[in-house]
Amino acid sequence: MKRPASVEAFTLAAIEGLGGAAEEQAPGLYTVLWPPEDDAGDVETRRLAFDPDAIEEDGAAELVTFASPTLERIVRLATASGRVARAFLGAPAQTRGITERLARSYHVLDASWTPRTGRPWWVPAGIFLFRASYLSDAREEDLVEIAIGLGDRRILRRLAEAVERFGLVPDAPEAWPMMPEITAADAYALARDELERRLLAPVGVRRRELASRLAHERGRAAAYYDEMMREIGEQQASLPAEAPERAALDAKLRAIRLERDGRTAELGRKYALAVEVSLLSVLRLYLPRLVVQGTLAGKRESAPLALVWDPVEQTGEPVRCQRCRALTYEIGLHRTGSVTCPSCVGAPITCRRR
Ligand SMILES: [Zn+2]
Repeated sequence: MKRPASVEAFTLAAIEGLGGAAEEQAPGLYTVLWPPEDDAGDVETRRLAFDPDAIEEDGAAELVTFASPTLERIVRLATASGRVARAFLGAPAQTRGITERLARSYHVLDASWTPRTGRPWWVPAGIFLFRASYLSDAREEDLVEIAIGLGDRRILRRLAEAVERFGLVPDAPEAWPMMPEITAADAYALARDELERRLLAPVGVRRRELASRLAHERGRAAAYYDEMMREIGEQQASLPAEAPERAALDAKLRAIRLERDGRTAELGRKYALAVEVSLLSVLRLYLPRLVVQGTLAGKRESAPLALVWDPVEQTGEPVRCQRCRALTYEIGLHRTGSVTCPSCVGAPITCRRR
């Protein structure tokens, strides 16, 4: 199982934010000065491992995973201090010479974009950590991390890499304004939808594997009961029509059929798959972004258009089409003055009243 980068980054940022300290001994293995849990408490020294392989190097270390008591304790401490699940990506937001590179991220159709002013913002993202348990004849677990842009509802696919590269800090390194965000319920719904999409493939693989094992086991059971019933059939065939043993053999046959049906149903239950999903934690992460206000001008119309530079990915962020809500890097200007994707740019002017 690949270890999600955010657990390590979040734990270390939380420990530092709480007044502790951490020193890396080996990849994924740290000596930590654990912050005191109350005013009278002492600082403890502990060893934390974020990688099961690191545990092998130091058997006394505690393994920190999504479900581990160590992480739960950190989250509890951080919550108590009002710092929960909130961190800033320690990445720089360059502001010089970006507008030209920003403009080059897009293809503008029959119009031109003129930048005016740019300023950095903190843009909120939510990292939802889910545990998926697959229950059948065995139990398996997967950890799934889903990052959502809380300003623009985008799924952020490469956020874990950015977290690994830049690390997290508990306090804002710059006093920039923060973008408004969607409600927690909306964000959770988006994360659940994405989780379901991501689970389709692993659930499908497990279902197919269980179905083939079920077919094999049912085939074996059927062969076993068929053989027993065939033997009884042979015994019956060798008896005269009025033999008193026939009734006992009939009863035996009925019992075997019942047992066979019971076994078939039992195998069906054994190889059925149930998937349980639980949300383990949410980390709110603020990402640096440069927002450049400007104007998109066509031959007759013009519209204000802000483009957003992502200093982590070194590219512009996609623009949302004002007609169909799709995200796009190809920007058109509709004759009503809306900023659109290429498929909406020539759309007829619709009357919204009925
Ligand atoms: Zn569109």
